[in-house]
Amino acid sequence: MSIEVFINGQYYPKAEAKVSVYDHGLLYGDGVFEGMRSYSGKVFRHDEHIDRLYDSARSILLEIPMEKEALKQAVNDTLKKNNLVDAYIRLLVTRGAGELGLDPAKTEDPRIIIITDHIKLYPQELYDNGLKIITAATIRNHPAALSPRIKSLNYLNNIMAKIEGIQAGCAEALMLNHKGEVAECTGDNIFIVRGGALYTPPIDAGILEGITRNAVIELAEKAGIQVHQIPFTRYDIYVAEECFLTGSAAEVIPVIEVDTRSIGDGKVGPITKQLYKAFHELVRS
Ligand code: PMP
Repeated sequence: MSIEVFINGQYYPKAEAKVSVYDHGLLYGDGVFEGMRSYSGKVFRHDEHIDRLYDSARSILLEIPMEKEALKQAVNDTLKKNNLVDAYIRLLVTRGAGELGLDPAKTEDPRIIIITDHIKLYPQELYDNGLKIITAATIRNHPAALSPRIKSLNYLNNIMAKIEGIQAGCAEALMLNHKGEVAECTGDNIFIVRGGALYTPPIDAGILEGITRNAVIELAEKAGIQVHQIPFTRYDIYVAEECFLTGSAAEVIPVIEVDTRSIGDGKVGPITKQLYKAFHELVRS
């Protein structure tokens, strides 16, 4: 059966799920989105994702023409319609179609799009043995220019860094902020372990406040692991005992090499393994 895509209250088969070429989401990247996961039919941290979507929208003066509860229901309905239980969900709100020109007032109704599909994870081998990453020369958007907290349809900043990673043979790339501090990867947040404690950049380092990041912080604290949200540099990664990334699609994935330096002993570390396991138990509970 073909995947049915939700667009403004109606379902369309994947091949017929289309928006106008005049949609400002396409013309200018004017819109916002979320990437979510469902486990056994339940969307993980659904409310947090919906809240982040509405916050992103509010910050760009985009009014989502649907109440939060109704949108949540639409996501659940779309999953059901597609008989999906363990799925990846892409929820988008575009500014809508209109005349050419940046002014959002030129557009009519925003498009609310819900795509549910099977999940494509990194290969299991990378979860077992860890990722190798490099630092991209492309820095993360300056928060005073475009806040990285907005999950907008314009991902060129991250795509530029992703291309650098791929060209270096790496599936992810580290991005620094305008101060040269560690920010995040192109689609994942980053953690390191030093002296048995966990370190991750604070939100004001210019990162997306990842929902998986927040879940992992909670899990670590529950397990008695200290978590510090403080700025750090690549030096701190190079001398760390462990490193891992978090994201809705990737979940928790170990990193064993950064910029050709082995992290710790170059093997997946015990705290990474512990949090990987705890996260899997949490999402499947
Ligand atoms: N940073 C960026 C830039 C992202 O796009 C994402 C989501 N793909 C993340 C971090 C991870 O956020 P979450 O855990 O909410 O998926």
